[in-house]
Formats: sequence, C-alpha cells, structure tokens
Amino acid sequence: MSRAVRLLVASLALIAAPAQSRSVAVTVDDLPLFGAYAPPAEAERITSDLLRGFRRNHWRVTGFVNEGQLEGPDREERIGLLQRWLDAGEDLGNHTYSHLSLTSTPVDDYIADVVRGESVTKVLLARRGRRERWFRHPYLETGPTLAIRDRFERWLKDHGYRVAPASMENSDWQFADAYDAAVAMGDATTALRVRATYLDFTRRTVAWYRSAGRGLLGREPAFVLLLHASRLNAASVDELAAILRANRLKVVPLDRAMKDAAYTIPDRYAGPDGDEWLIRWANTLHHDLPYDTLPQVPAAIARSAPDAR
Ligand SMILES: [Zn+2]
Repeated sequence: MSRAVRLLVASLALIAAPAQSRSVAVTVDDLPLFGAYAPPAEAERITSDLLRGFRRNHWRVTGFVNEGQLEGPDREERIGLLQRWLDAGEDLGNHTYSHLSLTSTPVDDYIADVVRGESVTKVLLARRGRRERWFRHPYLETGPTLAIRDRFERWLKDHGYRVAPASMENSDWQFADAYDAAVAMGDATTALRVRATYLDFTRRTVAWYRSAGRGLLGREPAFVLLLHASRLNAASVDELAAILRANRLKVVPLDRAMKDAAYTIPDRYAGPDGDEWLIRWANTLHHDLPYDTLPQVPAAIARSAPDAR
C-alpha cells in the first residue's frame, strides 16, 4: 500500500465519530419503469405505489431515466410518469437513452446516446427551475480503458454531470424479472414467494455491506443503494424501509451521501466489469472483501432473469 493510500485509510477511519449516524441514499434506475411492459393504467399504478411508498417512509430518492422507454404510442403517458416523480419532489438523472454498455459501445456513440437521453428530462427539470445533475452508468460500466473512461468523465464534467456511484446493491433486478414473470402468469403464490425471497436476500445483503464496509474502511460509509423502478419494489417499499430502519440506516439525499470522504478514494479501474464502489475502493486499498460470506441470489431466481439491468 502506498504512503498516500495509507494516509487516506487513516483519515477515513478518523472520520468515524462514535455517535456517527449511519446513512444510505436510495437511487432508482431504469425509469420510467423497469421490466415487462406495463400499459398506461398499470404503469401509473406502479409509479404511484413507488412514490407513495417513498413519501410514507420519508425517502428523498434520485431516479435515473432511459428516455428510450418514452418511445411508442404511450409517449405522453410515459412522460407524465416522469412528471409525477418531479411533482413528488424526487430528483431525476440521466441513465443514457438506450441503456448502453460503455464496455461495448464506442465512446462517441455512447456520448451521443447520453445527449439523446436528456432531451425530455432536461426540459421537465428546467420548467421547475432545476437542472439535470447526475449520471448513472448502465451496468455500472465506467469504461474498458482509462483513455475512454477519462474522455467520458471529462465530457460529463464539462456538461454539468456528476457520476452517481452505487455502493450497495441487492440484485433487485433479478428478483424483479422473476416477480414480473409470475405476475404475468397470474401466479400470485409464486409472486409472493419471490417477494419474500427478495426481502430475505436484501436483509442478508445489507448486513454484508455494512460489515464489509467496516472491514474495509474501519467504519461504515454513507452507502448509495441501487434499486430499480420495478413492480417488485413498488410492492415492497415499506418492507425495504423496515430493513433499513432495523439497520439504523437513515435515508438521505444522494448529494448528502456523496459528501462522505469514502467517495474521494481514488478509483482508476478500467476494464469490462461493472463493479460497485465498495469493490473499487477495495481494489485501490489492496484489501480483500469477504466474498465467501456474500449472499448469493438463489439459482431459481438467477435462472429466470436475463442480464438486463
Ligand atoms: Zn439500468
């Protein structure tokens, strides 16, 4: 470990005051709706359930939009869903137009897709005197080479965007696909079972991240939780909130979580993988995360989910 990194670790541990409150920012990807197509009335209901759940639990969340989802005959209704998010006081960021992979897309095409992905959201925000501030990489892929990574991140900065990291994730998209499939079949028993399995998995995953964070940094960082705008989460906000409360994780806005010094740890990863930030920090600090205890998505759930975050 270099001297600079040792100093950084020492200073990160020092920030851990005994009474430090633990926190997590909730981010929600693939707006307006993740997963199987929902006709307007159902899409409206899922969005309402999500937003009412956030409000009930006093969450301020940031949603990440794929404007490619606005194409089609429901365009106006779908734009209406994004407006609902803003009316509810939530923030919206860019997640590219077509949910592209930076690992496999030439960077110029990728940038063009990000620009295409802001045309509606930017206007909706501007009408409220706000601007789009956050970008979340699909698949958390930040670039296959340092040259590509640096080029894109310079572009983001020049265009007023900050990268939204993710430092806690519960593979919700895999469970959401299984849940959607059960709902589409009218199989309420399976849907309930998938939801129970999802919540149990989330309980164990949150515990793992907290413990892995302590092992890595000597304290728990302000986490950024990555969820998706799915039917499953719309049906589960209260239970997810209860899990966070049981862990004494206070939900804070994304910009507050990002003030945690952990997010200043250098991350120079370049490669094909879409790693979340705990893994990136562990790489920089030459520290092994306790992967042997990392909860695994049950095989039956993983099998039913195509790789489509
Ligand atoms: Zn996504």
